[in-house]
Amino acid sequence: MKLIFLGPPGAGKGTQAERVIQSLGIPQISTGEILRRAIKEQTETGRRAQSYIESGALVPDEIVLALVEERLQSPDCANGYLLDGFPRTIKQAEALDNIARMDAVVNIQVPDEVIVERLSGRRVCAACGHTTHVSIAKDGICPVCGKPLTQRKDDEASTVRNRLTTYAQQTRPLIEYYEKQGLLLSVDGCLPMEEVTAQILSKLRERQG
Ligand code: AMP
Repeated sequence: MKLIFLGPPGAGKGTQAERVIQSLGIPQISTGEILRRAIKEQTETGRRAQSYIESGALVPDEIVLALVEERLQSPDCANGYLLDGFPRTIKQAEALDNIARMDAVVNIQVPDEVIVERLSGRRVCAACGHTTHVSIAKDGICPVCGKPLTQRKDDEASTVRNRLTTYAQQTRPLIEYYEKQGLLLSVDGCLPMEEVTAQILSKLRERQG
């Protein structure tokens, strides 16, 4: 099964993707994660991408497309994959259309005011990658591995505003793009986490018949 998870930053794409891949047995491909790793390792791609990410802009299409094309050639992608945070522009979507036919596009809907609250409170464990919220992990310690939690640089308030504008201008048009292809499945991302996962899995099952 080849899937895309679409939605504004903070909609819960990454969290839901992690849960859904466990049921479907396909890899999760997060372009944001690949880019953050490249920055951490200061690879050529990482150095080129860094300023875009930190300002809340999108990394240029050619950089992201090269990463995705390479990743999709890995043997673990042979039976499908879940694209989390890709495509984010019409150009990326068109390029993907030339690579493979998707089975469904899951659109996780969350209003702007909820997003700002979620992202400004989001904390990530630098050691194990677990993502949580300040309202849950009040002591600043990762509930999974016990290491200190950190805030993603692009989750700071000024950058969050830029990311929302970027989403509205460049990524939101993809909803119509995939609706026209008959691939869109929309879910309410404000429901409790377990219910969102259940909705996604049930809509995917329905789709598969
Ligand atoms: P994410 O973890 O998906 O929120 O992505 C974090 C940041 O990485 C985004 O704000 C963009 O700067 C960059 N990024 C991730 N995926 C893409 C993409 N498909 N196209 C362009 N930039 C991306």
